[in-house]
Order: sequence, then C-alpha cells, then structure tokens
Amino acid sequence: AAEYRPLPWYPAPLGGTSESWHKSYSKAEDLVGKMSLLEKVNITTGTGWQMGLCVGNTGPAERVKFPSLCLQDGPLGLRYAENITAFPAGITTGATWNRELIRARGFAMGLEAKSKGVNVLLGPSMGALGMMPAGGRNWEGFGSDPILQGVAAAETIRGIQRSGVMATAKHFVLNEQEHFRQPNAWGTPSALSSNIDDRALHEVFIWPFAESVRADVASVMCSYQMVNNSYACENSKLLNGILKDELGFQGFVQSDWLAQRSGVQSALGGLDMSMPGDGLFWADGTSLWGSQLTRAVLNTSVPIDRLNDMVSRIVASWYHFRQDSWEQPPPDGEGGPNFSSWTHDRIGHLYEGSPGDETTGVVNHFVNAQGHGKHAHSHIARKVAAEGTVLLKNTNATLPLSREISKPSGKYRVGIYGEDAGPGKGPNACPDRGCNQGTLAEGWGSGAVNFPYLVSPWEALESAWPANTVDTQGYLTNNVAIEHLMHQDLCLVFANSDGGEGFIEYDGIAGDRNDLLLQKNGAHLVETVAKNCGRGKGRTVVIVHAVGPVVMESWADLPGVHAIVYANLPGQESGNALKDVLFGDVDASGRLPYTIGRSLEDYGPGAQVLYETHDSVPQVNFGQALYIDYRYFDQYNITPRFEFGFGLSYTTFNFSSLHIEPLMPKSRLPPSRPKDEYKPPVYDNPPESPAMTMMPPWLHVIPKYIYPYLTSLSGTDPGPYPYPEGYNDKQTPSPAGGGPGGNPFLYEPILRLSVNVTNTGARAGQEVVQVYVSFPEKVVEHRSLQHWTRETIDFPVRVLRNFEKVSLQPGETTTVSMTLSRKDLSYWSVRSQNWVMPTEGNFRIWAGRSSRDLPLVAEF
Ligand code: BGC
Repeated sequence: AAEYRPLPWYPAPLGGTSESWHKSYSKAEDLVGKMSLLEKVNITTGTGWQMGLCVGNTGPAERVKFPSLCLQDGPLGLRYAENITAFPAGITTGATWNRELIRARGFAMGLEAKSKGVNVLLGPSMGALGMMPAGGRNWEGFGSDPILQGVAAAETIRGIQRSGVMATAKHFVLNEQEHFRQPNAWGTPSALSSNIDDRALHEVFIWPFAESVRADVASVMCSYQMVNNSYACENSKLLNGILKDELGFQGFVQSDWLAQRSGVQSALGGLDMSMPGDGLFWADGTSLWGSQLTRAVLNTSVPIDRLNDMVSRIVASWYHFRQDSWEQPPPDGEGGPNFSSWTHDRIGHLYEGSPGDETTGVVNHFVNAQGHGKHAHSHIARKVAAEGTVLLKNTNATLPLSREISKPSGKYRVGIYGEDAGPGKGPNACPDRGCNQGTLAEGWGSGAVNFPYLVSPWEALESAWPANTVDTQGYLTNNVAIEHLMHQDLCLVFANSDGGEGFIEYDGIAGDRNDLLLQKNGAHLVETVAKNCGRGKGRTVVIVHAVGPVVMESWADLPGVHAIVYANLPGQESGNALKDVLFGDVDASGRLPYTIGRSLEDYGPGAQVLYETHDSVPQVNFGQALYIDYRYFDQYNITPRFEFGFGLSYTTFNFSSLHIEPLMPKSRLPPSRPKDEYKPPVYDNPPESPAMTMMPPWLHVIPKYIYPYLTSLSGTDPGPYPYPEGYNDKQTPSPAGGGPGGNPFLYEPILRLSVNVTNTGARAGQEVVQVYVSFPEKVVEHRSLQHWTRETIDFPVRVLRNFEKVSLQPGETTTVSMTLSRKDLSYWSVRSQNWVMPTEGNFRIWAGRSSRDLPLVAEF
C-alpha cells in the first residue's frame, strides 16, 4: 500500500444530528444550557484514580442534578465487585457464534452492572482484534475476524444497553499488543505507533466499531498507543473524522486510563472525557483537563463550543439510556455505586487514593446482582461456556462419554490429569487473575473479575460417573507419575496457556504471550499421558484452556490422543459446562474464532508481537492486516492445524441448495450521503468570568482529588490561539457517512441467499452456517480527477461476511436465509474515500461450516 498520510480533521463534529438521538439531545440542551463552565468541566474529567468507588468516576454537577458517573470494567462482568457472575470471556463468547446467546450474556452483564449502580460498563472489547495471535488481550474480544467481532460486539452492546447501562466499545483502535502500549512503562519515552493504511483500517479494525455505533453504543474508549504516529486519544482523523463524522457516533469518547497525552490537542482532536482524570502520570492528582480545561476554555485555546459538545454528548447519553430515572446518589437519594473497588469491607474510604483523607462511609452494600432461580445468570454463563467449547478432534467417537460405562471385570478407570483440572490455590489467588495456577477460566488484567466461585473440571467430573462401576482418580499436577497412567481406560488431561494485560507480568509473560505453546510444561504432560494411558491402549482426551491459539504439533496426532476439546476461557461455570459437552448433554457446537496454526510464524510476519526495540517511538506496521488470520493462511496456501470457523459436532450436517436472490442491481457507489436530519444543540451561556472559577476558600480540599477550579488566574487571558493546521478549513463530510455506522445505504441488503441444512446424524445438534465472499478478481479502478488512473485492487481469497447458528433434530432440514449488504460486497477505496462495489466480474458466495469447508458456492 502506498504510504498513507491522513490529514487532520477539524473541528470535531457536533453530536445531536441523528433522529434516534434527537430527544436525548434536546433534553441535554436544556440541562447543559443551565450549567456553569465549572460544572461542564467537572463532567468531562474523572476525579482521579481511586477518587471514588469505581475505576472511573466523573465529577457531578449537583446544582442541576447531574450525578457523578460510575465507570467500571469490564468485558466479562463487573471487576472488583462481589456477588456478581464471572461470565465466560469474550473469546469463548465469540466461539459460540450464537447471536441470541451473545445478546443474553450482554443483557445479564448489564443487569448486574445496573444493580451495582454502574452507569457505564467498560466493555465490550473488540480491539485487540487479534492480528497477533500472541497478543495479550485478544481473549477479551471475540475472535480474529472483523465480522465475527462486529456481530458479537453489537449483540453484546444491545444486550448491555437494554438494561439501561451504557456500554463502551474499546479500544479504539489498533491496540493489538501490550508491549510498548504506553510511554515509559516499557522503557521507551513514547508508546508504539501502529501504522496502517486507510483500506485495512476500514475493512478490518474499524468494522466492529462501525457495528457498535449501529448498535447505538453510548461510549467509545480510545486506546493507549499511537496510530500513524499520533496518539489515538488526540488523533483528529480517527476521532473527529472516522468516528464522529463517517460513523456518525452520537455518544462520547473516553480515554483509556491515562491514554490522554495532551490537554488542548486531545480536546480539539475529539476526546470528550478524560479517564481516570489524572494526567500524564498515574495517580499524581494533576490533570490535563480539570482546572486546565477551565483555563483553556477561558483563554479560548479550546473553543467553548467544543466543551459544550463534550458535555452534551455525555449528558445526552445519560438521557438516552434513561439514567435520569435512576435513583439519585446520596445525599439526595440512594443511588450511585453500592460497592467499592478498593475494599471488601462494608465500611471503607470514599477517596481511597487520597493520602491522609480519612472520610469513610458504608461502601459495600453486598447487593446480589447474580439473578435468582430460573433467571440466575449462572445459567447463561454455563450455556455460553458450553457452546463456546470447540471440539477439534474426536476419533472413534470417543466423545460424548457415557455415564453408564462398565467393564466385565472390575471397575472402569478414569484418570484426570493436570493442574489445569483442579482448583489450585483458589480462583482469586492473584490480583486481577495475574498468575497461571489452578484451572484457567479467565485471562488477566482489567478485563478479569473476581470469581464468586469457580467450578473446576475436577469438581464437576469427580462424581460424574457412578462410583460403583467407575473409579475416578485425580492427579491435579503437571508432573504425573507413569504408574498412575498404566491402568487407566480413559485419561482426561488438562493444560493451558495464559496471558493478559501488560500491567501484569507473570512467569516472564508481560501480557503478550512469548509463544503459542502450552504453559507449565503442558505439552510434556499431554504427551506423557497420551503415550502411557492404559499402557498405550487407553483413550486420552485433551482439554485446553487458553487465551488464544495453541500450537499442538507435538501431540495432536499422537495415536493415544482420541479427542481434543478446546474450552477457551469458560468463566465460573467451567467444570459444569465442560461436563455438559463431554457427556453430550449439549452438542459440541463451538467453532474456532481464530486459526490454530502449526507455528507462530505461519501467521505471517505482520502477526508478530514487537517485543524489543531500539526506537524511542517503536513502529509496528500493519501492512499485512487485510490478510489477518485465515486470510493469510489462504493467501499463501499454508495449511493450518485447524482453520478459522472449524469445530466438530456430535452429529453430522449436510448443506444443499444454495440460492442467491438479487435484491438490487449492482452499482459501484451507494446513493449519496443523506443530509443530517437534526441540528445539534446551540448554547449561548458564555463562560463565567475567570474570577468566578477560582477555588472557593471555604472548600474542604481532598488531596489529589481533581477539581475544575483554578488556583491562579494566570493564563486565562483570551487568545488568539494558533489552532492546529487545518483547524479553520471547512471539512468535506465523508461520502461514506450520514447515519449510525455510516451511510445508511451501505447497510441495505443487496442479495438474499438461502441454503438448506440437514441434520444427517442420529443426535440433535447445532451447526453454524458460515457465508464467505470472494470478490471478483483484480478489480481495476478508474477515476478521472485530473487524469485517468488505473489501479489493481487485490482481495483476500475469501472473507467471512455472515453466519447463523441453527439447531436441528435428527433428520430435520431447515432453510437458512441471510442477506448481504452493500458494505459486505464492497471494499474501501482509498481513492474514492468510500465503499466501492465491483460491478464487473462475479462475486463467489460460499456457504459451509468453516473457512475451509465450503461445499456450496454460487456466483453473483
Ligand atoms: C485498560 C482498560 C480498562 C481501564 C480501566 C486500562 O488499563 O486498558 O481496558 O477499562 O484500564 O481499568
């Protein structure tokens, strides 16, 4: 790709232009119109790390009854809270490929957040998207494909927000690795820059965010690192241009925790909320906004319109999800967060991070958020974990196991092996799950929660067979003595691979994994068990818990390995869900959300984490990003161990009769972007005089708390200020914009396809019908601007574009019907700055059960 130099994009587009948000913005207009400068600033800035009960707390505007907002992690449940559910991780959820189930999990997470008084849940995560299979945080998201990520993110958001809690689409964008994600922490003065061309940016990384905006997401979190050498939280092209103009985002942009690297520039670049409020250094009590934003607005280096828009976006989001009907926090009401992130005691500090401040109160009310009886969220957690379990190998129909197994002489002997099968030192032995011990059910970092309980595989399987006929023994260590293997009939061996967020390093793993191997000597354990189980005559089932793909070349083909079960990160119901699948109480219906390669190198040079650098600004190039995961394997004819989308069922399915019904003729471009339907709010309340923004002498100052007040009037004289280059140029709105997620015409269906799926086996089961598209070969783009140009556009061999999971009784046939939209059949043209549909040549539309098992194809 030609070197891409994005132009700056100013000024920030104003929120309030879409029909569905119109009412919320009118209400916001009324309220914000009554706010003082100080109140406005307070709403945009966090009160500082640990200066409230949640991981993020905004300042309130008490006079006009706008509360402090509680922002809490994260993508699989409520971090640092008790009486919650530890849901399966995003990657497990992605592996279900089940839209309704994904939404149900989101709804349950939203309900839990709401009952704990959380306004904004800091999830789902869709970036890291999975460009690097060893990337530390891929497990928080849904899989290494933009469409799978996009569908799962959107369903999660719909679920969360149906409860009235605001969701956060994070991390925007290209935070694909942990090493060098932040300045200083990794020994470089600057964070890394993820460098990408406009096309891969749109087709891969922005795609799930576009789906999130379509799903009406309230908030987007900008990421730590730079994109094309400008920090993501001040990158005007990304925030103003792509997110707010092109995708028509109506909510607010919050920074990742300390991802904000500048005050004025981030405001102009499109940031709306500074989190956690502290500025360049962790918990130091000084902010790039707070009083500095007050000063910047007074001296006009940040136009008041920009501040008004920040506040309108936050307040409108609050109205949009009807949080104005929530109970007000104390002293007026009983609302607000009813738990503390910082203590398990009932009474605790209100300002934990403030040295010397002893203000205490009842901080933990121990509200049970888990749902009851039939509606207990553990049911959803178990269902997701079971459906997110992928059966990769199953020779001699070893699985499902039978409970009624017996032997003519003596008992049937089952051995369960590996530390990963057992409880270890308890599920919460390390803060933020920052170690690999016991069974693995979450990765580590801010995306983890405290387990209320964790049903280990051993606990669930120990008594799964009747004791009079089956002898079940556990050897819950990775050093197993051969004699314990000799007499077994069946061996279940567990091993894992862990990783997580880069603020934790465990066993030499600084977030990103160093390789794709099983950890803690897991491969050796598996090999030992497989070779010696029943003196080589027993059956071995390998169960893997992992944050991502694991290379299994040394053991996958061993004759003793009869079955491989990839259980991902199952959350609190781990053992129960595994039991459901092992015994066939539910079908094995998970499908891989990424490719399992034969080596890390097989994913390509662009898929490697940068672990070391001599650069002060480490550069990571995403030139290969259009060929992410299976697209790379397909392009270079590399045979994976198990391909993207693969997974076995306990039954078999037949695909037939693929039909394509065109709904609209092909046309190169969508109809023009519609005009904005509504005008953003207009405000005429000027900032108060600088003297009025001084800190009141009577204020009881909490050390390190971030206030909007000035302590001196210096620097408040109004400009003129040199706004960044291009600030006063009028922007041409993106031709691809005009509605939530972009021009609404992009989402019009162009074709309908249908395919018959028959359950040809003897058991009920579920199949995932996957639809992939091959673009016409070598499209030539012509365009006359000043002159004619020709360009060849290359395409991945195939790209996933839609899927549907269906449930079928034995012998039953169903017709699955899906549509493909204009966007599904377009590529991002850098030249046209729009989605372009090739009109010459034919598309091939593939239907099947994985990225490499596509029995049906039709032309369009
Ligand atoms: C993570 C975010 C998280 C935030 C607050 C950051 O380190 O990158 O994903 O929401 O902390 O805990």
